[in-house]
Amino acid sequence: MKRYIFVTGGVVSSLGKGIISASIGKLLQARGYSITIQKFDPYINIDPGTLNPYEHGECYVTVDGMETDLDLGHYERFTGIQTTRNNSITTGRIYKTVIDKERHGDYLGKTIQVVPHITDEIKRRMLRDDDVDFVISEIGGTIGDIESAPFLEAIRQLKWELGDRAVSIHLTYVPYLKAADELKTKPTQHSVKEMQSAGIQPDVLVLRTEKHLSDSIRQKVASFCNVELECVVQSEDLPSIYEVPVNMQRQGLDAAILRKFNVPVGEAPDMKAWHHFLELQETAQKEVHVGLVGKYDLQDAYKSIRESLHLAGTYNHVKVKIDFINSETISEANVEEKLSQVSGVLICPGFGQRGIEGKIIAVQHARTHNLPIFGICLGMQMMVIEFARNVLHYPDANSAEMDSTTPHNVIDLMEEQKTVTNMGGTMRLGAYDCTLRAGSRVADIYGTLQISERHRHRYEFNNRYKEEYEQHGMQCVGVNPDNGLVEIVEIPDHRWFIGTQFHPEYASTVLQPHPLFMSFIQEVSKQ
Ligand code: GLN
Repeated sequence: MKRYIFVTGGVVSSLGKGIISASIGKLLQARGYSITIQKFDPYINIDPGTLNPYEHGECYVTVDGMETDLDLGHYERFTGIQTTRNNSITTGRIYKTVIDKERHGDYLGKTIQVVPHITDEIKRRMLRDDDVDFVISEIGGTIGDIESAPFLEAIRQLKWELGDRAVSIHLTYVPYLKAADELKTKPTQHSVKEMQSAGIQPDVLVLRTEKHLSDSIRQKVASFCNVELECVVQSEDLPSIYEVPVNMQRQGLDAAILRKFNVPVGEAPDMKAWHHFLELQETAQKEVHVGLVGKYDLQDAYKSIRESLHLAGTYNHVKVKIDFINSETISEANVEEKLSQVSGVLICPGFGQRGIEGKIIAVQHARTHNLPIFGICLGMQMMVIEFARNVLHYPDANSAEMDSTTPHNVIDLMEEQKTVTNMGGTMRLGAYDCTLRAGSRVADIYGTLQISERHRHRYEFNNRYKEEYEQHGMQCVGVNPDNGLVEIVEIPDHRWFIGTQFHPEYASTVLQPHPLFMSFIQEVSKQ
């Protein structure tokens, strides 16, 4: 029997609903249940693919090529279960489906309305047709937003229809007022009232707080909000997001949820491997600094890369300190000084001209100073351009993305992209196969010659130059078996110089850190 968990948030945004949803998923999974976690975002965009990272943070890509919210990255990192395009839904997608159906004539002359047509489409997606024990649906935004209303109405109806097969979890905030030295529960009470006025009685409350909440505060919230005491848990700020599942379990959140479903609670979840990870995380002492060279000065813009570096560091028994270096500020005159404190450099993905010359200068410095360097997507393309300019002696070498008239377009628009006019969802997206060259460093790192990795790009290595690169020491060691597209370049005669056209950061999970990040950090930690 399929059961449904709805996670909403109140009071303020950025409380970490994604982490709580991922933690609940992890705990249920560790109890042996099959689960899926999906995100409903109330904005009108069809997907976040066309959004500026400053608006939205990183765009996460699923194996089947959907550009999604970064919370899906948390879901995958926590549970190791791959999500698909069905796990990321926006108001825009809901409306598009309904409007397409209307144009097709499916509604047989009816007036199309938010209730029931939009809410029915939301419900259909919440219910899902795959076969899992628990579907966790996280609703983006904050209760009370105009945009959230249809989602709340869908939850209200489903709770009514499904009875004890649906549980509502509401995440709120308990602020601490320094001047009064008091923790305040009023915002939580108001937020629950808002839920109640939408017809939803939350079954479980998760209180985000910076200070430990006493039992009497939990008691107060429980009695003012009609929620059982054992169903009021707190989520204090913790040094690491990966401690959240364990903290939730300690307070019995997973057991409380199961009781709400009238499911026997049974044995505690098997979190052995997770605890092992936490132990490594706690005991890692040595710090290593990695320079993250990108143009978005915002933590969330490179979320999966940051987490992948941290996970790989943990398993390598080091603490990775990420020094963000804005590529726009890098010049030939200061590159030495900018990179003087780091033991390795990661050149970030990206789009457009801004900041790329700084990336190229950073690549040149790392290449000529034998400093470990990892280039991802645009980062790999910058490695290729730098090599063309400074080793192959094509000073005007560039990507056609930045300069469409350069005679040396070592990075060029992919053939299939030449006819594309719509920008949304039209890149080369999702997982593609790649064959590694036997004897290469990457073949050694992966321990296999056949891999599959996720992509998000329009431009590619120009195969016209392949031989020239190989003769001069940059090897194309990963190639798509179907179309010959170069997926990985490496310089064997260097401590660690690898660029990937794909995004390995999307595939790194807590229990299975990505081999390329593992190897990179291993090299960076030497010395
Ligand atoms: N802008 C480059 C391209 O479209 C790289 C994209 C990326 O880094 N994700 O090919």
